[in-house]
Amino acid sequence: MGQTFHVYPVDDLIAHDTETEDCICGPKIELVPSETGDGWLITHNSLDGREAKENR
Ligand SMILES: [Zn+2]
Repeated sequence: MGQTFHVYPVDDLIAHDTETEDCICGPKIELVPSETGDGWLITHNSLDGREAKENR
């Protein structure tokens, strides 16, 4: 398997699990092909409202 890259918001309200893709924020997982082998891009979601603004 290739590498796994994590993209996550710094100074977020929660602690992101950057060791696995099983984070509580429900990160988006994308396959990233590269010459040295396919990698995985794990994009974490911010829980402080930067990603999903939902005002009711
Ligand atoms: Zn996360």
